Amino acid sequence: MKKNYLVVGSGLFGAVFAHEAAKRGNKVTVIEQRNHLAGNIYTKEVDGIQVHQYGAHIFHTSNKEVWDYVQQFAEFNRYTNAPVANYYGKMYNLPFNMNTFSEMWGVRTPQEAMDKINEQRQEMAGKEPQNLEEQAISLIGRDIYEKLIKGYTEKQWGRKATELPAFIIKRLPVRLTYDNNYFNDDYQGIPKGGYTQIVEKMLDNENIEVKLNTDFFDNKDEYLKTFDKIVYTGMIDKFFDYKLGELEYRSLHFETEEKDVDNYQGNAVINYTDAETPYTRVIEHKHFEFGKGDKNKTIITREYPADWKRGDEPYYPVNNERNNELYKQYRELAEKENDKVIFGGRLGQYKYYNMDQVISAALESVKGEFEK
Ligand code: FAD
Ligand code: UDP
Repeated sequence: MKKNYLVVGSGLFGAVFAHEAAKRGNKVTVIEQRNHLAGNIYTKEVDGIQVHQYGAHIFHTSNKEVWDYVQQFAEFNRYTNAPVANYYGKMYNLPFNMNTFSEMWGVRTPQEAMDKINEQRQEMAGKEPQNLEEQAISLIGRDIYEKLIKGYTEKQWGRKATELPAFIIKRLPVRLTYDNNYFNDDYQGIPKGGYTQIVEKMLDNENIEVKLNTDFFDNKDEYLKTFDKIVYTGMIDKFFDYKLGELEYRSLHFETEEKDVDNYQGNAVINYTDAETPYTRVIEHKHFEFGKGDKNKTIITREYPADWKRGDEPYYPVNNERNNELYKQYRELAEKENDKVIFGGRLGQYKYYNMDQVISAALESVKGEFEK
């Protein structure tokens, strides 16, 4: 039995689902409220450089199935993310590794670093960390917390580190080697020629029709009537007209500038970890792809965290206790719509997903839908 699907949102979740549904002979209409495809992974060429329009996107995963899956849609380079932190003009390597410890304390060996970290952790001895601040101090000590975590985190999330859940920084590796690779994953890279092609290729199928500049909410009732099934990747609370209350999101504001120099900051990503600089990071896009870009031109983007209110772009779900509890209630409403609507992606599942996790979740939905 072939069906007529409506996919709301052309980000990775929607694109993977649409691709797989169309491959199986179903008709798919993809609607996208923006004027371009690809959701937050959208990249656009300027001065021969792929500009990451919605912030730096580095593909990394330990999930071989997902890694093999994306290779169908792009060739990846061997870019390894190695951001550097700028704290009041002093530079520190990230993630926290022997280079950082050496820059911070002058230590040279893993043993010297361990001794220093253990000495710093003492203030949390015997205490169970209750929030992000305590988690950070018990993981790595106060010096690193104050210089590399506190300012950045409070800017990013718009609240005190003592009011944030610990899990946010559990993502960050701590290493006793001189290895600046930001991720521990088996596979990592950037698609040569940018990310947009991935979604374009996924949607390049005669069974798929794409409509840009089209908001689901302009015709919600009609869509629910017309299509056999809807895959919805927008905000779950908005789908239900916020009837249980608003989930919280963090927004971002990007400021992009062309500079008439070949190399502006010497690295793709520099984090500004002090509390005063209003932006969290500066991206220099040409460093994501070796040897690309016009001579004496470079594009940089400053990323400013921002509060979210209705109408703003909801970049990050805020997965604290209050919001997770509310999400659970929305989830219950969603389950009642199971036969008609699949909720997917960072906004539909209200989860701080990376790209690989979104692909994996979409492939799970595909299995649930077509391999029953
Ligand atoms: P989205 O890409 O947000 O797609 C949803 C789409 O639905 C959007 O295009 C939206 O316009 C559309 N839509 C919403 N509502 C409607 C509506 N009512 N009608 C029509 N269309 C609608 N992941 C990594 O793996 N590595 C990284 O380095 C990384 N860096 C990131 C940096 C930033 C600043 C951000 C914000 C995210 C980053 N991510 C990263 C996460 C990554 O962007 C997401 O995991 C992924 O793009 C989510 O895909 P999605 O399809 O769920 O959502
Ligand atoms: N973080 C930090 N200092 C940094 C980089 C990250 O304190 O220099 C913290 C911050 O709280 C951030 C979290 O670690 O929200 C996760 O960082 P990541 O780089 O994974 O964030 P993303 O790229 O998803 O925004």
